[in-house]
Amino acid sequence: MNVLPCGHLAAAAGARICAHLTTDNGPECFRVLTGVRTEFDLLCRECADAAAPELLDACVGCFGRAEEEAGLGWRGRPEILRHDRDPGGSWTTSGGAPAPLNDRCLAGLPGGWLAWTADGLVALDPAPRHVAAVRLPEEPPENWAGHVRGPALHTSPDGRFAAAVTDYGRYGAVFEVASGAVTLELDRQDHHTETTPFPIAFLGSRVVAATDWNRLDAFDAATGRLLTERATDDEKHYLNYFFGALLPSPSGRALLTDGWVWSPFGVPLVIDSAAWPDGDVHAPEHGRALAQREYAWDDPVAWLDERTVAQQRIGEDDELMLDGVTLLDAATGRRKAVFAGPKGRMWSHGGLLYVAAEAGLEIWDPAEGARIGFLDGFAPIAHREGTFAELRDGQLRIWTSPRTPDA
Ligand SMILES: [Zn+2]
Ligand SMILES: [Zn+2]
Repeated sequence: MNVLPCGHLAAAAGARICAHLTTDNGPECFRVLTGVRTEFDLLCRECADAAAPELLDACVGCFGRAEEEAGLGWRGRPEILRHDRDPGGSWTTSGGAPAPLNDRCLAGLPGGWLAWTADGLVALDPAPRHVAAVRLPEEPPENWAGHVRGPALHTSPDGRFAAAVTDYGRYGAVFEVASGAVTLELDRQDHHTETTPFPIAFLGSRVVAATDWNRLDAFDAATGRLLTERATDDEKHYLNYFFGALLPSPSGRALLTDGWVWSPFGVPLVIDSAAWPDGDVHAPEHGRALAQREYAWDDPVAWLDERTVAQQRIGEDDELMLDGVTLLDAATGRRKAVFAGPKGRMWSHGGLLYVAAEAGLEIWDPAEGARIGFLDGFAPIAHREGTFAELRDGQLRIWTSPRTPDA
């Protein structure tokens, strides 16, 4: 180990800082991208504006301390890796499909799809078949920071159940798809519902849903029976957390919730759903926080595998973000990798990330940190098991990826 230019006999950070950042209580700084992937140096404002600033190779300690003051955001451009190859896969198109209420109102069924249309729930396999009318209590229109209150549809992986809910709203209902019967009415009360999509997920024969801003419950999806009666208003179990979108891990043993806490910070939490509701009845009250980002939650997020959560945007502050993906260790919250580029609704399948970008569906390989495929003009709004569905102008267009799920 050599003495580094910062003056320390220590491990090198592999990145540089300006000379003004070698002291305690240094000035605020920028992350200045070097143009190699998402690598960056740290520069104070004066140096970031200078033509030829003096930069020093920093030790891990100096770099880490300086990075705590990186409140000025990003400068420069990241390297976005595009190694596109032919994605292969197969296509089908069928006509005569009814229009979903919006792009959150199509969901997968084994061998088909379920749409929430003006006539209620309609199964498409691919011929339309009416399943049920949907009657939820009216809610006033709401648009908070671009999050528009409106209908959203979820289905259980086995296709037995569906949930029609109001995202950024209060109400919803669970249906048995075969009979069209409502098995459970959902109500998460009205405290700041505008800030998160309706928290709901299917786990085996159970459905997990928010019943208040800071409470999740599990129900038998077939009967609506509550499975998680418990007290959460005592000091020990009171939870100061606004639940957001719920995403089961591939095995269903963990549940990610993308919610927030005052002041506000986005805090993705992992809940041990294997231990709840049978053993650890308070599992939702002590989830594991993976990150804390100022004003930032409800970005596209997906389980890459049982141990890894992929979250879009790189940074710690809503106003100082870089488009891309951060991979988080689901057990510890450790940042495993970042790569720039992906922006848009995101699904995970077979170790890859699929991103509905403006121009088409992008396929990203997190192991390479690169885009490896692109389906120009394809704008899917639903996914199941490597099959993606676009539904517009009565045309149901389906692309099935050649990739099989990881065993
Ligand atoms: Zn400087
Ligand atoms: Zn140092």
